[in-house]
Amino acid sequence: MRFELPQPVARALEMLEEAGFASYAVGGCVRDWVLGAAPHDYDICTAASPADMQRVFRAERTVETGVQHGTLTVILSGMPLEITTFRVDGAYSDGRHPDSVRFTDRVEEDLSRRDFTVNAMAYSPLRGIVDPFGGQEDCRRGIIRCVGEAEARFSEDGLRILRALRFSARLGFPIEEKTARAVRVRRDQLKAISRERIAAEMGGLLLGKDAGQVLAGYPEVIAAAVPGLTELTQGPAWTRACCRVDASPGEEAARWAALLMDLGRDAARAAMKELKLSNSLQERTAALVANAPVRVTPGNAWEMLARVGSECLESLIALQRADRIAAGEDPDAAGRDAALAEERRRELLREHACHSLRDLAVNGRDLSALGLRGPGIGQMLDRLLLQVVRGETPNERDALLARARELLNA
Ligand code: ATP
Ligand code: MG
Repeated sequence: MRFELPQPVARALEMLEEAGFASYAVGGCVRDWVLGAAPHDYDICTAASPADMQRVFRAERTVETGVQHGTLTVILSGMPLEITTFRVDGAYSDGRHPDSVRFTDRVEEDLSRRDFTVNAMAYSPLRGIVDPFGGQEDCRRGIIRCVGEAEARFSEDGLRILRALRFSARLGFPIEEKTARAVRVRRDQLKAISRERIAAEMGGLLLGKDAGQVLAGYPEVIAAAVPGLTELTQGPAWTRACCRVDASPGEEAARWAALLMDLGRDAARAAMKELKLSNSLQERTAALVANAPVRVTPGNAWEMLARVGSECLESLIALQRADRIAAGEDPDAAGRDAALAEERRRELLREHACHSLRDLAVNGRDLSALGLRGPGIGQMLDRLLLQVVRGETPNERDALLARARELLNA
């Protein structure tokens, strides 16, 4: 089997080999290639130490990303390549980081520290594929299995528990029985993991094609990862939430909203804060959760556009469709309603329909000329926008000023 490596990857391997260091493409790219998918990035591992690498690539641009862990980033023809010295991890005492790492010149040793068999393969154009743990076989069978003894691997690094779920969701591979048992038994190890790492893995899990099935299969693990979800995962609404995630659009905020919606806006907010999701993701998700109860129709689409913005409205429509399907409503009817609302949304955007204060034909200065001051100005602008998006007043300066006077005198 020959792996068509991108030219910069092939050249990096060649330069290292010419200097006498065995080197391989490794991890995700080999897995994706074995599965017939296009790798999205390439990691390289090598017998060369960071100092050796600096010499081999002295004429190239390099970034010292993690020299103490043996990683150097080399930029070849504009492509950044992470190159890491073969290493074995020492003992883990904090449940997340090895206390020490030791460099080695054997690729098999490096592969043995990796998390799952499908991620523990290396490939060299000179020596072919190195697969000491049956990664190809597990790709063929479609299973996620730990390298080595699962419970021990999860005690070393609790993040692997959530990674198992993420890869299962993303690849559509069930988790092999012993590994699955260890995932459940060791779930409390997730408590030692930083919230940001959990959030990142959860995001990947939610976007996976089998997200719903994985969430439904491991409720107690999800509760350990996201404490705010504990009650929901234990109740009858969980199945529906899992279904809703599957049926919702493949966009991260929509997936989070599908997951957190049942908590209500305040608890959903608190769960996102706790996980330290990025502010923009929190804002988008919160807008979806808050507006999910009001079904978007051609009749109110304009007002909803003003409330949530154009991009968010598209997700909201799709999320509401997903929610109805998850609730057991007729998928065709839910799909038809969503299509009508979506058509109206597009029409509004085509017409450049006014949907924010920026689009309004009057501004704060106009209103202060009418005698309004301070917060009164903002409140009046909001009221006028609502008038426009409800079709009650045209977005024209004179009409809006007249309406403002009326509202003032009312
Ligand atoms: P993706 O396509 O999602 O990037 P990936 O397999 O490249 O998948 P990464 O998180 O980028 O996943 O990690 C790269 C490789 O490093 C993995 O394939 C695996 O071999 C190894 N690895 C990453 N994290 C761990 C971990 N916590 N424990 C053991 N090995 C790990
Ligand atoms: Mg990767």
